[in-house]
Amino acid sequence: MNKPRIVILGAGYAGLITAAKLKKELGYNEAEITLVNKHDYHYQTTWLHEPAAGTMDPEKARVEIKSVLDTNRVQFIKDVVVEVNTEDKKVVLNNGELEYDYLVVALGSEPETFGVPGVFEHAFSKWTVNGARQVRTHIDYMFSKYNSEDEKRDELLTFVVAGAGFTGIEFIGELSERVPDLCAKYDVPKEKVKMYVIEAAPSALPGFDPELVEYAMNLLESRGVEFKISCPIKEVVKGGVVLATGDEIKAETVVWATGVRGSSIIEKSGFEAMRGRVKVEADLRAPGHDDVFIIGDCALIINEEINRPYPPTAQIALQQGEVCAYNLKALIKGEETKTFKPEIKGTVASLGGSEAIGLVFGKKLYGTSASFMKKMIDNRSLYIIGGPGLVLKKGKSPL
Ligand code: FAD
Ligand code: NAD
Repeated sequence: MNKPRIVILGAGYAGLITAAKLKKELGYNEAEITLVNKHDYHYQTTWLHEPAAGTMDPEKARVEIKSVLDTNRVQFIKDVVVEVNTEDKKVVLNNGELEYDYLVVALGSEPETFGVPGVFEHAFSKWTVNGARQVRTHIDYMFSKYNSEDEKRDELLTFVVAGAGFTGIEFIGELSERVPDLCAKYDVPKEKVKMYVIEAAPSALPGFDPELVEYAMNLLESRGVEFKISCPIKEVVKGGVVLATGDEIKAETVVWATGVRGSSIIEKSGFEAMRGRVKVEADLRAPGHDDVFIIGDCALIINEEINRPYPPTAQIALQQGEVCAYNLKALIKGEETKTFKPEIKGTVASLGGSEAIGLVFGKKLYGTSASFMKKMIDNRSLYIIGGPGLVLKKGKSPL
């Protein structure tokens, strides 16, 4: 009998772990496993605020897929997924097609704009390695341009972050930490630099522990960050943002961090979805598709305790990768699949330098202890992906 063909789309946290675990779950002759990703590297999405602000070399966030995956067992294809055709059990790629018996869609997320015009034209919104490189280079260029022009234009040194969720807060944490060095490097007086974080909801980090939110805001304000809370952005225009109040902030740098939606491939392929996320069955399969698993940021899972979706996180994506691999093995061997239940250990967010905030197993952490914890979590994800060798090569010093 032919070996079942398992095709995994996306080598982020969810897809890469599925591939690695499948290799362990199934013997050589039990399945043909293929992983497709648009780059020949995985990137640590959870680190991208650092290279974007320029506090980390973007190279550090990239992990060559061949270095962490046994490509003798898992065939790797570098290509872009265009669409899934579930009727014919085919995946359309930029450079060909793939047939599958079982499919895993783990294509991550895309920026959510909530219909605000101008985001893709005038803001930086791509949380990818290439997107981070672009922001970093642009920031340096703004500093160098300020002093090289005769007319001193304040908008060159005005940085707007849209959204005070975890991405926006972590990015401004890094940028505000780096500003003194940038000012020294480019001969710019520090008081000339303006950093705004603009949030639509009545609080930064809505829903997070208020004491930790206050700590983060006080710290960031002490570094020169100005928060505009309950202040939705209505439009991004060339050279700035327009607020719901009608006021405009002139800024040559707008970084968009107002949340995510699942990959556009989901809706393009006809899966029923809410903001690009499919409300998956208990065992992570797409409703009505017994041969398709949807995991990571493309999947929507309800937290029954509060009857709201779990926020899309790497923590959940990694756990789903493990269960997805187990369930694929179960289907192939005619066994029972198991239910996915997220095990939420907590949330820790970096604030730049040796500062962070966190809530871990219900315990609040601030400052250096939170920062230590964040770096340990970052190293743990490296360990899960590539073992101790990868931690030695790319790991963060916890001090
Ligand atoms: P991803 O990790 O985004 O991987 C998707 C993969 O699919 C990528 O390799 C991509 O290149 C590939 N791909 C996409 N489209 C195509 C295509 N058409 N064809 C081929 N390949 C494609 N979560 C936490 O739990 N903790 C944190 O501290 C944390 N920090 C974050 C910090 C930042 C700055 C950001 C942006 C997010 C953070 N998150 C964090 C959220 C977390 O990164 C995501 O939930 C997680 O990456 C989702 O994993 P995934 O495998 O679904 O997708
Ligand atoms: P988010 O949805 O958590 O936050 C986006 C914020 O933007 C919200 O507070 C929202 O009110 C605001 N917003 C929306 N529209 C706006 C507008 N027009 N003007 C101004 N503000 C607007 O999204 P995120 O921060 O991008 O995070 C995405 C996911 O990644 C989340 O699940 C998050 O938990 C996760 N993440 C986790 C960490 C961490 O654990 N350290 C870090 C980054 C991201």
